[in-house]
Amino acid sequence: MSTMDLSKLCVHTMTTKPWSLQECCTEYARAGIGHITIWRNVLDDLPLSEAVKMVQDHPLSVTSLCRGGFFPSIDPNKRTDAIDDNKQAIEQAAALGAPLVVLVCGADPGQSLDTSRKQIQDGIAQLLPFAEGHGVKLSIEPLHPMYAGDRSAVNTLAQANDMAEALDSPWVGVAVDVYHLWWDPDLEEEIARCGKHGNLHAFHICDWKTPTEDLLLDRGLMGEGCIPLRAIRDAVLATGFDGPDEVEIFSSRYWEMDQRDYLQKIISAYDAM
Ligand code: ZN
Repeated sequence: MSTMDLSKLCVHTMTTKPWSLQECCTEYARAGIGHITIWRNVLDDLPLSEAVKMVQDHPLSVTSLCRGGFFPSIDPNKRTDAIDDNKQAIEQAAALGAPLVVLVCGADPGQSLDTSRKQIQDGIAQLLPFAEGHGVKLSIEPLHPMYAGDRSAVNTLAQANDMAEALDSPWVGVAVDVYHLWWDPDLEEEIARCGKHGNLHAFHICDWKTPTEDLLLDRGLMGEGCIPLRAIRDAVLATGFDGPDEVEIFSSRYWEMDQRDYLQKIISAYDAM
């Protein structure tokens, strides 16, 4: 049990991947963590009503649902399927009390990034009435350019800001993740722009290890790498953002640990940030 103030700490269920939703809820709440972001994989094996009850039985607020997106494809049927899947994500978010769905926007290596970005923007535009109808916002998360091939054609905060501003809806904004954006020389300026337009929805933290041994599954705890976390957080807070700090770490190494010990490491790293 921690005595630190963890009321602004959020942990993504994927961060403690070996745990079920029930275990995440129990353990996060027991540790005094205030918020949870729910990844859809933990919803796979249980009825949504049970997941809702699990969350409501704990003093946790749901920050977001991860993830929707994956709009682009050279195959129009797949683009239609993506819209349906995103509608399901929006329904899940609404049921769970998650105010937003984070979008990993997608890319198709068979077409240009520009075409993929157009399809992303069209896909989001198509979903907007449904999102609004459910009271759920959509958050574009730019991903590091190393994922431009197949995971996201939106790779800078400037591109995400451009898209959010073009869509010009209170139901669309941006998720800022330090892992994806820390290298960007325009980051501070683009964070300010994001806030100024009311588009800053979420703030994800972890660290960039050197060397990074796996492009997906080797993220570090805060303080373990070279990301200027305090400077980025200061820029985020300067916009008036008052949402939680969301710890999102994919790490095969940490998933092998006892997850309770790992959660304590997360809390210590957060406290030292
Ligand atoms: Zn993220």
